[in-house]
This record gives sequence, structure tokens and C-alpha cells, in this order.
Amino acid sequence: MGEFDLIAKYFSRSSAREDVLLDVGDDAAVVHVPPDKRLVAAVDTIVEGVHFLPGAAAADVGYRALAVNLSDMAAMGAMPAWMTLSLSLPRADEAWLAGFATGLYDLADKYAVALVGGDTVRGPLAVTVQILGLVEADGWLTRSHAQIGDTVFVSGLPGEAAGGLAVLQQSLPQSADAQRLIQRFLRPEPRVALGRALRMLANATIDVSDGVISDLQHICEQSDCGAHIDMEVFPVSSALRACFDASKCEQMALNGGDDYELVFTVPPERLLAVEAAIAGGVRCTPIGRIVAGNGVQCFRGGQRLALAPRGYDHFS
Ligand code: ADP
Ligand code: MG
Repeated sequence: MGEFDLIAKYFSRSSAREDVLLDVGDDAAVVHVPPDKRLVAAVDTIVEGVHFLPGAAAADVGYRALAVNLSDMAAMGAMPAWMTLSLSLPRADEAWLAGFATGLYDLADKYAVALVGGDTVRGPLAVTVQILGLVEADGWLTRSHAQIGDTVFVSGLPGEAAGGLAVLQQSLPQSADAQRLIQRFLRPEPRVALGRALRMLANATIDVSDGVISDLQHICEQSDCGAHIDMEVFPVSSALRACFDASKCEQMALNGGDDYELVFTVPPERLLAVEAAIAGGVRCTPIGRIVAGNGVQCFRGGQRLALAPRGYDHFS
């Protein structure tokens, strides 16, 4: 199967979006951006052996490639709309491509994202998705506007994905709890609806790809503030507790990557509005507050804990 057959067979499905004016097949895609919206762009590459396990199911790779990008849209308060796909493949393996396309399109359909173009090359297995989204012209979320006195929230149960990865890597027994963790690692749920609800309400938002501490640290640096986390209220998944000892659970909850939850900060006068806006959606837990200074510190019973190690850094 040649490059063009492959594109035609797996990546040329026409989209239902009326704002796609020209898609796969020309030199570039053309989309309609309404005058009252702003274009939001993000790109993420996932590489075999770095972001997914060697031999991972193709459908899970397709899902992940888009999920990590949808998570960036969530963190901006944006609506995802279109994507381009750059695929580097060691060979044109049809079974792999069919699985990959299924995982990718399943999630794309769920969020009404159209695949409008891409590039296909031979090389080590790596997938790049660029996502394009829309946000109202009057405001989007950033990392840089946290204020002293804001409450820090986290969505979901951070650490579950790291737990799932550990179950897979250490071939731990696949109890129902372990299965839940694996599912959270393989199929993270991008928090797009939460991001939309937080637009104009949260002061600062980031998605958790590298770990809660490490990503909250980015908010602190870019907002010129510090943060205190209260370990007594930090949510720790019962599935995680069932599979790992307490200190391992805590470490995964604070530093585990791949959850794609949102961390966000809310000023006191908007706490009630946020509560109302996020009711009925994913559970969000207040875990601490923004303070003067810099850096993230964790407390239990008034005692400051030794600073937990940082999240993942590709070059450190
Ligand atoms: P060019 O040489 O102009 O870069 P290509 O030959 O790389 O064009 O691609 C042909 C068409 O197929 C383009 O419209 C491109 O966007 C699309 N395309 C290539 N690879 C993919 C892919 N993996 N997914 C979606 N569209 C793709
Ligand atoms: Mg090309």
C-alpha cells in the first residue's frame, strides 16, 4: 500500500462540519473562522517508548494522540474544531492503521472534530496532532492570571493514570481496581466541558500532563505567586489505594503524569459561580490556595512536607 492509497483509505473521511471549506487532498485545508471567535492552536507529538508503551494497541495510540490535544483546548476554555495529523510509520501496516483510525475517529466524532489534513512519512513510530479550536473573543483561560487568595482546584482523581501505567509495566494482578487504573491511563477523558464552564470564571488553568505539583508550578511561575496544597483534602482514588501503599499513592497523586485533569484557580468572589457552573460535571476538589512567594508547598496538619520530586522533563 502506497502513501496516497493509505491516506485515501484511512484519513480522507469527509467531515460533517460546515465550516470546513477544503479538507484532505489539496495542498492545505481552509476553514471558516466566525468574526466573533478567535482561533486557538496547539500541537502535541506522542512517540513510541516515550508517551506510549512499545506495542501499545493502535486504537489506544489514535485515541491518545487526539486526547492530549483536546486537553490543551480544555485548558484554554476553547471548543475544539479541526485537526491535522502527521504520522511517522515504520511501515504501512494495515491492521495497525485501521485500529489507529478507529481510536482517533471515535474521539474525534465525540467532540465533532474534523480531520482536515496532515502528512505521512516513513520513520520511527510517532504521531503528531495539531488541534485548532475556537474561543469567544471576550476571553480565554491562561496560566498567568492566578491571584493571591485564589482557591486551587483539581478535577477528577489525579494519579490514576500513573497507577495504570505502573500496573502495566510491573504486570501487577488485574483486579477490577487495577483495570480502572489501566483504563484511566489508556483512555484519559479530556475535560473540554469543564474548561468551557470555567471560561470567564477561573483566574488560571492548566491541564495536568506532567503531574499536579509540576503543572501547578507552571501556574505559579507564570502568575508570579506560590501555592500551598493541603494534603488532608487532596483526593486520592480508592482504586489507587487498593493497588499501592499509602506513600506510593500520595506520590502518584501529586507527581503522576498522563491524567489530563485540569488544575485551576478561582478568586473568592467567584467560588459560588464556579460551583454552579461545574455542578453535574466531573468532580472538582479544592486542594489549596494561591499565596505570595513562589513554588508549591504541601502541608499536612500544619506541617510542611519535604518537597516532592518534580514531574517529567524530556531533557533533564
Ligand atoms: P504535500 O506534498 O502538498 O504536503 P501530501 O502529499 O503530503 O501533500 O498530502 C496530500 C494530501 O493528503 C494533503 O491534503 C494532506 O493534508 C493530506 N494528508 C497527508 N497525510 C495525511 C494524514 N495522515 N491524515 C490526514 N491527511 C493527510
Ligand atoms: Mg506532505
